[in-house]
Amino acid sequence: MIKGYLGVDIGSISTKAVVIDENDKLLAETYLWTEGDPIDAVKRVLAEIESQIQSHVQVVSIGTTGSARELIGTILEAQVIKNEITSHAIGTLSIYPEVRTIFEIGGQDSKIIILDKGIVTDYAMNTLCAAGTGSFLSSQSKRLGIAVEEFGSYALRAQNPTKIAGRCTVFAESDLIHKAQIGHKKEDIIAGLCRAVVTNYLNNVGKGKTIKPPIVFQGGVSKNPGVVKAFEEITCEKILVDKNSHLLGSIGAAILAKKSKIEKLFSFNIRNVDFSTEGRECGMCPNNCEIVCVMKNNEFLDGWGNRCERGLLNVRNKVVNE
Ligand code: SF4
Repeated sequence: MIKGYLGVDIGSISTKAVVIDENDKLLAETYLWTEGDPIDAVKRVLAEIESQIQSHVQVVSIGTTGSARELIGTILEAQVIKNEITSHAIGTLSIYPEVRTIFEIGGQDSKIIILDKGIVTDYAMNTLCAAGTGSFLSSQSKRLGIAVEEFGSYALRAQNPTKIAGRCTVFAESDLIHKAQIGHKKEDIIAGLCRAVVTNYLNNVGKGKTIKPPIVFQGGVSKNPGVVKAFEEITCEKILVDKNSHLLGSIGAAILAKKSKIEKLFSFNIRNVDFSTEGRECGMCPNNCEIVCVMKNNEFLDGWGNRCERGLLNVRNKVVNE
């Protein structure tokens, strides 16, 4: 029986999961849409992972990352729950040990991580502005009637990328409509959109950061060769994109779980357990923290959002006594 380490990276748009062995070799991997239901998404990724590893791998440790990492970490009883910066850095370093800059653009957020000798020295995240993310590109692809997967090949055919105002989604959309109406080619508009995403990213997330090579680009948008080309043209640097660039956060979480050396046999039967969440206000002091409670088969499992231990105890008692 081979020991496996499960890493789950769960975001608002997509959920990624991998299982690695003791040498960080990938044994299983999956990627699917979260569809607004992280609990269901994690059950679906577990079904896919279980079908890939079958019975010759025993998962002994779990790491979670991403915006729903606490929720999913609680449900899976994960040994490690880590933020995206650490997980992405660890995952990337496992493949590119010399990396100095990580660009990451996902469905709804983006981040930059600066490293020196394998240590994170600076970072920034953008969770507010859609103009520099994958959701911006997919909404514009719908407007142009082109599948977002084809965006890259269109962009690479462009002769004269159209200048699109990339400062915010609303400006970009109205500019795109105007440029289409006055006769710019689709290829040029799409290349212009890719450049707008990169310009927006560098001006916001990358503002004030010292960008040094090697640069690794990851996240779902790294699969778009039009954006990769725009990054190379604008930064005048080679941009490295790994074939598993969309999985590096989950790989990092799995490596962190392995490094924790805390092991417990994991059963995929957890897929059949009924989990739910509910928000509760603590109310014990003026902070009135909103505490998210996770219920397992209608019983209180865990909660977070409390600024002190009293809050969790209070909410637990309320739930148990109802
Ligand atoms: S969790 Fe603690 S800080 Fe927050 S409202 Fe309750 S008692 Fe106050």
